[in-house]
Amino acid sequence: MKTIVAGNSQDEILQAAKILRTGGLVVFPTETVYGLGANALDGSAAGRIYAAKGRPSDNPLIVHLADPEQAKEYCFPTPLFEKLAARFMPGPLTVILPKKDCIPETVTGGLDTVGIRVPSHPTAKALLQACGLPIAAPSANLSTKPSPTRVEHAVRDLYGRVDMIIDGGPCIIGLESTIVKLTGEDSMTLLRPGGVTYEQLCEICRNVTVDKAVYSRLGDNEKAEAPGMKYRHYAPSAQVIVVEGPHEAVIRYIKQKSVAASCGVICFEEDKTCFSGPVFSLGSRLSTEQQAQKLFDCLRAIDGQKEIERVYAFMPETGGLGLAVMNRLVKAAGFIIEHVKEEE
Ligand code: AMP
Ligand code: MG
Repeated sequence: MKTIVAGNSQDEILQAAKILRTGGLVVFPTETVYGLGANALDGSAAGRIYAAKGRPSDNPLIVHLADPEQAKEYCFPTPLFEKLAARFMPGPLTVILPKKDCIPETVTGGLDTVGIRVPSHPTAKALLQACGLPIAAPSANLSTKPSPTRVEHAVRDLYGRVDMIIDGGPCIIGLESTIVKLTGEDSMTLLRPGGVTYEQLCEICRNVTVDKAVYSRLGDNEKAEAPGMKYRHYAPSAQVIVVEGPHEAVIRYIKQKSVAASCGVICFEEDKTCFSGPVFSLGSRLSTEQQAQKLFDCLRAIDGQKEIERVYAFMPETGGLGLAVMNRLVKAAGFIIEHVKEEE
């Protein structure tokens, strides 16, 4: 398939909108990560997303809208949805609600619910407005690879597999949206942490439960509330090991373990000089925003250095956006976490 790589001028957005209206696939930038979009009302167009990514057919797509007001056309919003929409939309929040019949099951992976999100990125907004459709879009990476935070990531994974890729520069947040499932009038489950934090959700809703899959690997017989959480994800070819413990002890431990040239380190900017081998900085230890922005780029850079077989990574702090950084990193590590203690 011929892929057009374009900028985000008005003409190029109109061209992309036309491709979407005629059943094609368009990669577009959002504030979280790049998305791979198709018409959410057309089951066969949405089916092409799964084929292009190599995505399992039971892993549903998020439906992007220009305005939260449109949600009632596609699902059954509740008063709690309205409260969330007023505070966080447009923005990096996906809300799971019972779907209406117009949303094909291909989009929802056979579920009777649909994930709704209203992106704030100007190019995503312009595209939604220009095509006049809801856009079904997962992240624009090949399945199991880290989500794309720069256009070159999406080009590497999807060139030749989609009709158009729109370059909108690097994504500001760098991790995928927060996903919540509403379970009552004042209760919800956080299925995936992201740019809207647990603490922010607690300001709106009294009972916010964090799903077990955020912290730990699900057992073979356990059902994932967000089907995507059960799949291997974000994993570079090298094995990733996350190390947790008092900061100085973690530095000493990783220093000892990472002497081989085939060992890399994912650390904070402040600690970079402690290690001699290939080092990938997540940005400042004090900035979860920087860590979120850089994590997927680091994981892709590791993939670019074929001699690296193993990578040791510092466990981030889990407050605010740190919960999302921790979740993606431990998933990249297949939940392999080593705990170190302070030396006697
Ligand atoms: P991606 O945009 O690539 O991060 O993939 C979309 C994510 O949203 C996946 O983890 C899905 O499992 C999740 N998701 C989408 N729709 C639903 C739904 N109806 N119920 C639960 N999770 C969903
Ligand atoms: Mg994804």
